[in-house]
Amino acid sequence: MRKDTCYFCGAEKTSMEHVPPKSFFPKELRQDLIRVPSCDKHNSKKSNLDEYFRTVFFGVSSSAIKNTKLRSVNKKIITSLSRNNGSNFFKVFNRKNMPLNEGVDMDRSKLDDFMISISRGIYFYEYEEIFNGKVEVIPFFIDDRDYPEEYKEIKDISIKVMKKEESYSRKKNKEVFFYSIQKSSRGYIFDFTFYNDIHITAVLIAEEL
Ligand SMILES: [Zn+2]
Repeated sequence: MRKDTCYFCGAEKTSMEHVPPKSFFPKELRQDLIRVPSCDKHNSKKSNLDEYFRTVFFGVSSSAIKNTKLRSVNKKIITSLSRNNGSNFFKVFNRKNMPLNEGVDMDRSKLDDFMISISRGIYFYEYEEIFNGKVEVIPFFIDDRDYPEEYKEIKDISIKVMKKEESYSRKKNKEVFFYSIQKSSRGYIFDFTFYNDIHITAVLIAEEL
């Protein structure tokens, strides 16, 4: 792996970035966390998205709260919620206010930003180069009935068009995060799972040469 340049933009590295953020993992589940070199701009510690999506994913997952291994994550979320008076967070627990619905477009674009960084981080980790191309984020964990048809179509089409050449999965610390990758000549489909039942797919479409 290139160790001196940012996984996202290729600028000089100033730190190592955990993918996904370290704060997602309780202390007991931090074996071989994924790290990639990052510049200041692309280190997520500079934004508050980590805490935000840790709260969203954990809160929406139906199994996370019951998992004793994740108890310390839950504790941290409660602490951070009380610190912020909950103003930024409580609304996301209401599924009606989940991203993709009317009036909360910003949440959807935050989710895209967050997942694009994770996708590119995982790509860099797996293939030791910067991904050049488009990343389409499909948040499958959001209620089906509110689900725009076009998102299902993107995945269906991607799977058909991108004839599978190989697949791979990594399941370390799977209670928090795991993924599988389908690779084809046209690009990649990354299937991510957070806290056991938050499924998000990213379609990475390689730039035409
Ligand atoms: Zn960068």
